[in-house]
Amino acid sequence: MNKPENLAKTFERYDTDALLYITNRPPLVFTQGEGMWLTDHNGKRYLDWLQGWAVNCLGHSPQCIQAALTTQSKKVINPSPAFYNEPSIQLASMLTEHSCFDRVFFANSGAEANEGAIKLARKWGKIHPNAAGENRYEIITFNHSFHGRTLATMSASGKAGWDTMFAPQVPGFPKAELNDLASVEALITNKTVAVMLEPVQGEGGVIPASPAFMQSLRALTKHHELLFIVDEVQAGMGRTGKLFAYQLSDVEPDIMTLGKGIGGGVPLAALLCTEAVAVFEPGDQGGTYNGNPLMTAVGIAVLEELLKPGFLQSVTNKGEYLKQGLLKLSATQGLEGERGEGLLRALKLGSPIGGKIVEMARDLEPAGLLLNSPRPELLRFMPALNVTVAEIDQMLAMLSEVIRRL
Ligand SMILES: *Cc1c(COP(=O)(O)O)cnc(C)c1O
Repeated sequence: MNKPENLAKTFERYDTDALLYITNRPPLVFTQGEGMWLTDHNGKRYLDWLQGWAVNCLGHSPQCIQAALTTQSKKVINPSPAFYNEPSIQLASMLTEHSCFDRVFFANSGAEANEGAIKLARKWGKIHPNAAGENRYEIITFNHSFHGRTLATMSASGKAGWDTMFAPQVPGFPKAELNDLASVEALITNKTVAVMLEPVQGEGGVIPASPAFMQSLRALTKHHELLFIVDEVQAGMGRTGKLFAYQLSDVEPDIMTLGKGIGGGVPLAALLCTEAVAVFEPGDQGGTYNGNPLMTAVGIAVLEELLKPGFLQSVTNKGEYLKQGLLKLSATQGLEGERGEGLLRALKLGSPIGGKIVEMARDLEPAGLLLNSPRPELLRFMPALNVTVAEIDQMLAMLSEVIRRL
């Protein structure tokens, strides 16, 4: 077991082994965050291009989130999901006003929102059975997709082995190839109820679904009376320069899930659907913390920022600036280019040096750089959406320095 060195020496009061071992963490404890910067227990600063895994869409601890938490915590924190509360109604109204959806169910994580989407599709497939009168329940998903870490969402994910890792798991998720309509068509049976995809595959390596593919998928699902589900947990909430990534393709899905950026760093997620698909009945869906006013008040504060005039355009502009910078870096260092949408981008390294780059960037002095390598031959960039051009330049300079030293 390759555990990091016990941090007790540097962080004396506690034993890090009190935490269940689930991953190798660097021997650092982050104690403070502001905007694009994090500070560790030694006072070293890091330019943070992870932002909690594309979660802090407004950077670390923005004023508007501090204010929303403080103000709402003094009013009411959780009256119970069995009662209405004002922030949840307001946030749901804002989301439906700015999307093609009519109804919102709030959840606490992306995986939970996706579980809800799977349940909703299966319920709809019960109400709309096949010609033989049988329930439809199969949901076509995609190789390299990521939908979460619950038993059902692991089965839905297109990571090799994930559908059986904790067997017996949830069956009914045949896998197609992204941007290959024939591969979807070939999987449609009289049990199929939906197709679910990420408009930009995030964990799979930042692979956008083409607008042509999204449009033909919408036509195909309509033709076969299937639901079209988009998992926008990573690509939604302004990340691509559109408020929602499906808007890049000019299609209207039936169901969408949101997570990560919607809470700007706090646990908040959402399941949205059209009226025609809103088939849950009392008892079908719920959750103790779902739609609590403390988190939905933060969601309002975040969405208000994203909707300010010019904000989404600035994401598009900075996405383009980052793209040009990455292409230039790729050309000078002999790498293989880049891909992505808006401020969700990947640099193609051409060889499996991602892990080494991540480590060397973190260890840069006097300030470190936090990067992510979802695959050994890729780096992924997911800054705060309000990152500045100067911070983009700074990241590119630091990254060039690391690659030069390799
Ligand atoms: C992160 C992610 C999830 C899972 O969200 P959690 O909040 O970690 O449960 C699901 N789908 C996509 C596309 C994601 O990027």
